[in-house]
This record gives sequence, C-alpha cells and structure tokens, in this order.
Amino acid sequence: MTNDLADVLSARVERIKPSPTLAISARADELLESGKPIINLSVGEPDFDTPDHIKEAAIKAIRDGRTKYTPVDGIKALKQAIVDKFARENQLNYKLNQVLVSCGAKHSIYNLFAAVVNPHDEVIIPAPYWVSYPDMTLLADGTPVIVNTDFADRFKLQSAQLEAAITKHTRIVMLNSPSNPTGIAYTLDELKALGEVLKRHPRIIIASDDIYEHNLWSQPSFSNILNACPELYDRAVIINGVSKSYAMTGWRIGYAAGPAKIIAAMKKVQSQCTSNPTANAQYAALAALQGDQQCVKMMRDAYKERHDFVVGELQTIPGIRCVPSDGTFYTFPSIEGLYNKVLGVTNDMEMAEFLLNEADIAIVPGSAFGAPGHIRICYTTSMNNLVEGMKRIKKVAGKLRIIT
Ligand code: PMP
Ligand code: GLU
Repeated sequence: MTNDLADVLSARVERIKPSPTLAISARADELLESGKPIINLSVGEPDFDTPDHIKEAAIKAIRDGRTKYTPVDGIKALKQAIVDKFARENQLNYKLNQVLVSCGAKHSIYNLFAAVVNPHDEVIIPAPYWVSYPDMTLLADGTPVIVNTDFADRFKLQSAQLEAAITKHTRIVMLNSPSNPTGIAYTLDELKALGEVLKRHPRIIIASDDIYEHNLWSQPSFSNILNACPELYDRAVIINGVSKSYAMTGWRIGYAAGPAKIIAAMKKVQSQCTSNPTANAQYAALAALQGDQQCVKMMRDAYKERHDFVVGELQTIPGIRCVPSDGTFYTFPSIEGLYNKVLGVTNDMEMAEFLLNEADIAIVPGSAFGAPGHIRICYTTSMNNLVEGMKRIKKVAGKLRIIT
C-alpha cells in the first residue's frame, strides 16, 4: 500500500480485529505443515467427517442441477424442515416467513446486528463470550457492553448483573447456552430468572445462540430463553445451524427464527450481501435435519467421553482450576495459579505462546473471549491426541513448578 492509501480503511474496519480462534488455528496448521508435531486444541470444529447421507444429498443436488440461485432466504423445503425442527425439538412454532437461512450461524448473527442495531445502541454480552459478538457489534456501529461473570457462578450471568447492565440504549442481550468458550449451559430456572428481567424492558431484543444445542449432556433436555419465558416470543431471535451438530462447519449453513419483521429486515441485508446460501449446501442441511439423528448422538457421546478425560486430567494439575462443562466441546480452565512459575509467563497470552513453543500444543487464550486468566481447550481431536496433549501439558506444568 502506498502512503496515499495509508488512511484508506474505514473507521469501522479499524475498530475490529480478525477472529482470534481462526487466526490461532491457521498458525497451528502452518506449524503442522512445517513438520512440528502440533496438537491443535484451538479451533472449535468437529473432527468427525460429515455423515455420508448428508454428503450424498449434496452430490445428488449437484447432479440434479440444483446449482443456481435459490430464494434469498433459502429453499422452501429447508425452511419447512427448520420450522419442523423447532416444533419437534424446541416446542416453538414458527411460520415460513419467520425463518431465514444464511451462510452459517455467524452470518445469521451478523444479519441480525445489521438489521436492528443503530449507532451507539448497546449490545449486552456476558463474558466469557464467543469471540465474534463484540466485533460484530462494532461492525454494526453499536457498543458492546461486556458483563463479566464469575467462576464461582460457573460463568452464568446473574439476573441482578443483567438488570444493572441494561440502559435506555440497550438493543440486544446476547445469550449463548451451552456456551463457547465455557461449555456451561443455563438451566430452565436460570433462564426464567433472566426472562423476568427482560420482560420488564420491552425495547430489548434477545438473541439466543443455540448452536451447541445438541452437544449437551448435563441436562435431560435443552432449553432456551423462549422455553423459559414464552412472553418474549415477539422479540427473541433464535440462532442455530448445522455446523456443530452434524460436523458441517465448511458447508456454511446457519439459520435464524424470530419475529417476521426482524427476519424480513435480516433477509433484506442478506439480499444485498450474499444472496442465498450455497444451493447444494442447503440440500445437505435438509438431509441433516430430516435424516437419521443417530450421528448427532454418536458425536455428542464422543465429546462427553473426551470431556471427562480432559477435565479429569486438568483437575489433577496444581495451579489449574477446571469446572466440568455441561456440553459443547470446550473446557475453560483458570490457569492463574501457574503464573510467574517461569520467566515470561505472567498472563494467558504468554501461556498460549509457551504451550505452543514448549509443548507443541495450540489452545486459545481466555483474553480472546474477554476472560483473561483462562485458556480454552477444544477437544475435537482423537483420544490418542488428547492423551498425548494432556501428557505434554502436565509435563510443562510440572516443569513450571520446578523452575520456581
Ligand atoms: N456461535 C457460536 C457460539 C460459535 O461457537 C460458532 C462457531 N463458529 C458460531 C456461532 C458460528 O457457527 P457457524 O459455523 O454456523 O457460522
Ligand atoms: N466458533 C469456532 C471457535 O470458536 C470457530 C471459529 C470461529 O468461527 O471464530 O473456535
């Protein structure tokens, strides 16, 4: 770039940073390619292959010539399957004009923010949060309002904290359960308590990011804010997608359901940005939602087994505090007890560097999720890798103590 172009970038883009989870994973991949024996516990994406019946549906769609533009908001059959899914699994009733299919749940959230956030509107984001919520708020010219939750509360937003964070500028309250990065899920009663607060503030839209709905093991069934508080139906937008449940991250299909007016506005944004999500990927998503759900259970059981192993190992390491997750494929231990045990490691960013350089382990520092003092470990890799990874972490943690 020449000097003339030095200030060419918009203030909006200058306000945001690239997705740290994707950046760390790209670095881990580069190191792996260069021959380093990296164990990548950074990016949150299933290691399982997309099930065959889903792939076959996409191949058939291509063969059948489903290679053209589709309606902006998605093919009717997929939208109907999403409506059916909400009725069957979530006891929520939507009409077709209340559903929008997008290029991943990430895109659904972006569309929502673009559709309802005005300059200086506030978006309440409980921390630890998924990396993209604050930056998407900034992209929409809004103001992220980060509310720190406590380890002692298992990182759950308390109703008094929510009440205290609400102002006349609050536009969205972002909820994500089970949560990336903590793996913690709200119970129905906890959601009811939050719902009581939200009922008193009619201007607020509630965004419920349910992308880890199926990766839940601590509760008999999944609940979201509308199950807890149906009165919020007219101002809640539910976000979901096929990436995490069906091992379909690369296909880029997510969806949103909510009030018809908001969904129509999101569709308008999408019509000017991406048009429809990829046609054959929509047929794949249709097969995922309508097909045998055994694959979902198989993957969840595998994540649970890995979770039990990883959390069990971490809990034996002095200096690490780790609470079990309710679901997802993440654990989010506190590592503050390991600080200052070796020259150069005084925070979670340095710990991430240290683990990468000394143990060939890629993890994401808690700061990326607004929670310094922690690291996120993603266990979407084989048990063999996890056994080796935990061995390495224990070894360096032991080394840290010897150096003291
Ligand atoms: N929300 C959360 C909490 C996530 O972890 C992710 C993972 N990328 C997304 C949304 C976006 O998912 P998708 O791949 O469907 O865009
Ligand atoms: N959500 C995943 C993660 O947190 C994928 C990366 C991203 O979309 O930022 O690792």
